[in-house]
Amino acid sequence: MLMMKVFVRRSPHARRKRWSNIVSKMLVLVLTVVFLFGTGLDPIDANKAGGSRLQSWMEHMGDTRDAKDLLDKQFHLSEQESAPIPTRSITNEFANPAIAVKESVPSSSKVVYLTFDDGPSKHTADVLDILKREKVKATFFVLGKQVKENPELLKRIDAEGHAIGNHSYNHAYKKLYSDFRNFWQQIRDTGQAIKEVVGYEPRLVRAPGGTYLNFDKQYFELLSQAGYIVHDWHVDSGDSKRANVPKSEIMKSIRAGARLPHTVVLMHDSAGHGETVKALPDIINFYRDKGYTFEIMTSDLEPVQFKVATRKRWERKAVSQAWIDQHVKAVDVRGEKQPERQGEQRPEKRPEKQPQKHFDNQKESSMRFKATTEVGMLNLQPGQYKRIQQNTYIPARILTTHLDGEIIINDHSSPIELHFKQGTITVNRTTGDAVWQVGKNERERLTWKGIEESGVLWIPLRPVLDTITIPLLKHEFIPLELGKIDA
Ligand SMILES: [Zn+2]
Repeated sequence: MLMMKVFVRRSPHARRKRWSNIVSKMLVLVLTVVFLFGTGLDPIDANKAGGSRLQSWMEHMGDTRDAKDLLDKQFHLSEQESAPIPTRSITNEFANPAIAVKESVPSSSKVVYLTFDDGPSKHTADVLDILKREKVKATFFVLGKQVKENPELLKRIDAEGHAIGNHSYNHAYKKLYSDFRNFWQQIRDTGQAIKEVVGYEPRLVRAPGGTYLNFDKQYFELLSQAGYIVHDWHVDSGDSKRANVPKSEIMKSIRAGARLPHTVVLMHDSAGHGETVKALPDIINFYRDKGYTFEIMTSDLEPVQFKVATRKRWERKAVSQAWIDQHVKAVDVRGEKQPERQGEQRPEKRPEKQPQKHFDNQKESSMRFKATTEVGMLNLQPGQYKRIQQNTYIPARILTTHLDGEIIINDHSSPIELHFKQGTITVNRTTGDAVWQVGKNERERLTWKGIEESGVLWIPLRPVLDTITIPLLKHEFIPLELGKIDA
């Protein structure tokens, strides 16, 4: 109807233009449907197929009513010609194949992070045996309750060089998401329980059921303020859709999952996941065949986070500033010394300490990078950021400007000084070594190096923000436009 109205008022030329516009829009829509749901299905079947996949995903999150709604949203999105795919959204699962990295990306840069949630349990020893045999490292997001029951298994996880993350104390959604204060208490209690066993509190946190529809902005912000790093996932193995999902179905989900340069895979090692244990050797082989190496998640890895839902699943009030001042302000887990894994024997090549000048240009050239700190938003175009291993480097000048700081370059031989309200970072121009200084005496050698290239000093965003204690509240890579994505 609207279209007809438009036609009446337009010249033949404009009409042709309008038609080509519509045709290109439809092309984008069709391509999107193909990207999102695989090949050859007609839209109605694709809709059904996508719906059931989404349904399974939602079932894992305990909400079967949401799938249709989300799917509608997804189609709505694809109708907009240049709508960016929100990289932090739940639709990620489906959008990812569209931005999946091609097999031509050098194998050495492809990393998969295997993660196991809800343990440690009776299956954890079997998982650890397989990982040891395959010489693969993984990350375990543990429950405080399970740690209390199986401290020796947590010790073993740590001793064998795997990473540990915090997955709340008892996983009870209603408790955790009806009030942030409950979530906070469970994270603190679990952190303590872990610390009692392995001697440190991990910064990594995974929300039970994932953050989508569960977290709001305040959950993200307060956890980030205290130095916790929240991670969702890219690929759901589907092992938790219902009880005893068979190995064949788990493998199907893995094969259908996104394969990004850095891919985070969700699995479970809690009771009732014997099939996950059976599937694990095949999962490892699958990623190995695709040229992936296996690494543990560390605190300098860019977190995978679903976007904050506009819709509400939980009724709750925001916590008060007084409560924040009393509870959150007192905590900073950034100071927790995380275990040094560098020296461990590793099956695959470890990245050298000095960042290689290998930039993942293929992905960068088609993505914008958006980062939000408490000061505001940084919106970087391709060329204004570089992905080096697991970090996003940006020009020092952009960050000092953003934080109202100052960059001072005296001459070629003196270090570059980055002045912030909180202190000063100096970067040696020959070695790239960085030193943090607060006041006159307090000096700290930083673990990252700056890279000077054609007169621009590049620094890694997250570690630098960590140093000057400014939380990185949110970050995302956004495809420039849907139409540009290469099938
Ligand atoms: Zn869980």
